[in-house]
Amino acid sequence: MNDSEIADDFIELEKKMEEASHNRARSVLICPNCSSTNVTYYMGLKTGVQYQCNDCGYVGTFIIEQDKE
Ligand SMILES: [Zn+2]
Repeated sequence: MNDSEIADDFIELEKKMEEASHNRARSVLICPNCSSTNVTYYMGLKTGVQYQCNDCGYVGTFIIEQDKE
């Protein structure tokens, strides 16, 4: 692999990260336990990023993501 190929990979990676953050802003998080949209990010010390439902108290890595209308 030469230098220009590495640069292309970085551009591709930046595009994908930009897309991912864009998609996240357009989607809504839904609690799998009670279907509430009152869900926030929950930063666990050892477990990493999880989600917390403010309505039922659910905390977990699994969450339903749905596009906003
Ligand atoms: Zn819930």
